[in-house]
Amino acid sequence: MRPNAERLHNGGAMSDEQSHGSPADPHKRICPTRADGLLALMAATIHVSECQRRQREHFHKCPTCVHYNARAITPPSPSALPGRASGS
Ligand code: SF4
Repeated sequence: MRPNAERLHNGGAMSDEQSHGSPADPHKRICPTRADGLLALMAATIHVSECQRRQREHFHKCPTCVHYNARAITPPSPSALPGRASGS
């Protein structure tokens, strides 16, 4: 069913995917899901494995997305960097 036809069938309510929320299937995600909370003009529901493939291939939308793997990396503290602990 086409999205607009589905909305009419549902009494005008938008599904999670249409409103850019999280898809009901935990193995899928909205690509991209912008970290700033804005809605992407062009978005699609993709499987997690497809997300990982796109990240490996440097998909241009990934740096602004909440699912971007690099967001989970915390930078090292300055004292942990070589040459900084001795104060020189
Ligand atoms: S990390 Fe990249 S591929 Fe994965 S959902 Fe976000 S924009 Fe899409």
